[in-house]
Amino acid sequence: MAARTMHSKVVVIGSGPAAHTAAIYLARAQLEPVLYEGMMANGVAAGGQLTTTTDVENFPGFPTGVNGSKLMDAMREQSVKAGTKIVTDTVVNLDLSRRPFQFGLEYAPGEVHTADAVILATGASAKRLGLPGEDVYWQQGISACAVCDGAVPIFRDKPLFVIGGGDSAAEEALFLTKYGQHVTVLVRKNELRASSVMKSRLEDHKKVTVRRLAQGVEVKGDVDELVKFYRAKYGHEAVGGENGIDVKILTPEDKEKWVKEDQKKYQRRKMTHLVVEFTTTTEKGEIIETKQETVEANGLFYAIGHNPATELVRGQLEVDTEGYVITQPGTPFTSIQGVFACGDVQDKRYRQAITSAGTGCMAAMDAEKYIADLEVEEAARKKATAANGSASTNGTASTNGKI
Ligand SMILES: Cc1cc2nc3c(=O)[nH]c(=O)nc-3n(C[C@H](O)[C@H](O)[C@H](O)COP(=O)(O)OP(=O)(O)OC[C@H]3O[C@@H](n4cnc5c(N)ncnc54)[C@H](O)[C@@H]3O)c2cc1C
Repeated sequence: MAARTMHSKVVVIGSGPAAHTAAIYLARAQLEPVLYEGMMANGVAAGGQLTTTTDVENFPGFPTGVNGSKLMDAMREQSVKAGTKIVTDTVVNLDLSRRPFQFGLEYAPGEVHTADAVILATGASAKRLGLPGEDVYWQQGISACAVCDGAVPIFRDKPLFVIGGGDSAAEEALFLTKYGQHVTVLVRKNELRASSVMKSRLEDHKKVTVRRLAQGVEVKGDVDELVKFYRAKYGHEAVGGENGIDVKILTPEDKEKWVKEDQKKYQRRKMTHLVVEFTTTTEKGEIIETKQETVEANGLFYAIGHNPATELVRGQLEVDTEGYVITQPGTPFTSIQGVFACGDVQDKRYRQAITSAGTGCMAAMDAEKYIADLEVEEAARKKATAANGSASTNGTASTNGKI
């Protein structure tokens, strides 16, 4: 059976703020965009990174903050209302060497999709360390974005830690000094990779301590108290999964208490301590000893980089050494005409919802212009073909403009 083919003038791949902003602009320009929102693409749910956070307090228009998932639901709703067609599937291959561009989907392998223009808005995901306790306290003390989360009350006047040794780590730490009581930067190696300016700013700051040859190895918090309580009462098996209490094992009284009181406490879990491993070495770098210390820590910020979702275009579009799509400065233009990139997939500096939305708008406006130019070229080509056709068929039977 022949593969079903679906052609669009312009498609958007992704579903974060960049993708939906692009789609809203394209739909309003009557380009009938199709947006492929992904199904856990790159490990992130449709709606993008903001679906993994609770309060977003810096997106304009929401003076009391907005829940990340609700914000993305609203963007999706606006896209659909404007006229975007949304396909809930992940684009798994994309051929940019042919025109129209051609791509396929994970859950509809029999279909061939094509587009005259592609907007790539596949985002990025923060690298994690996979420490014990990381899943329990992710967004409950652990964050990968100081600018996004640093101002929330749980970090005010509290001891905070940053992991990383580059410029981003230095920037995050300096930002956090506005809120935290003290900021400790843990650097795994014996030296900071940050530029000398950032290094000095960090080392000279009275609220910052840089600890070299130091790394976080476990995150602890108040859920542990609850776990300990149930373990003492019911034995080891009362604790199920990574962070849960197996409620089936509780007595009816405890179950009721669990629902009414403990679960609230459990849901309000937050990190309180970090286990740090310090290494001492000789001048030549030979390890003399390693020791672990549990230190008070109410915040842990990862500044160890992000993974841009660019597997689809590797080897086709120009990407930098970290895999980010290279765009012409100040524009969404990539190395291939008709392919535009916006949001975190091409931005390792700002990485904010509002900047992603801004570049989504730019990508849509440039894609609109690109398609308009294509249509003018196509009309001119057809006119020339028709003119050639009528010249060559002058005095012969009509060919209906076809050669
Ligand atoms: C925990 C957390 C909290 C944050 N808090 C804030 C904040 O308070 N304020 C702020 O401004 N920013 C915040 N950010 C940053 C913000 O979320 C990002 O800058 C923004 O979401 C990037 O938007 P984007 O459109 O580029 O892509 P993303 O949000 O990364 O979304 C990309 C989407 O594309 C999908 N996708 C990927 N590949 C494919 C494919 N092949 N086919 C189909 N779909 C695909 C992914 O599944 C994903 O859903 C936070 C980030 C995190 C992780």
